[in-house]
Amino acid sequence: MSIQIHKNKCISCGKCRNVCPGNLVYADSEEKAYVKYPRDCWGCTACLKECPVSAIRFYLAEDIGGKGGFLYTSQDKKEYLTWHIINKFGKEETIKINRKESNKY
Ligand code: SF4
Ligand code: SF4
Repeated sequence: MSIQIHKNKCISCGKCRNVCPGNLVYADSEEKAYVKYPRDCWGCTACLKECPVSAIRFYLAEDIGGKGGFLYTSQDKKEYLTWHIINKFGKEETIKINRKESNKY
């Protein structure tokens, strides 16, 4: 699994840098985020959940059906987070989560 940050979408908010538990995300000279140590990323997806502009992609490993498949998120009025899952054939599925209820079991 690996993370890719799209520089052209990044608005330099710094949220991904603040939440990465491994301090793997840095800012370049334009304050755009990038993953400095991609091999150390363990795919917690904290950065994806914070990015307000869908600039971060999380590529799925082959052994869980990835091989070109990836995830990203979009946000809706701060309450809802939508996961977009694009499979290796380009087909998209979405899962919408109410953030306030996401930790209820
Ligand atoms: S997925 Fe987790 S560990 Fe990897 S860069 Fe994002 S916040 Fe850091
Ligand atoms: S959270 Fe998204 S927009 Fe904000 S710095 Fe990170 S990649 Fe850029």
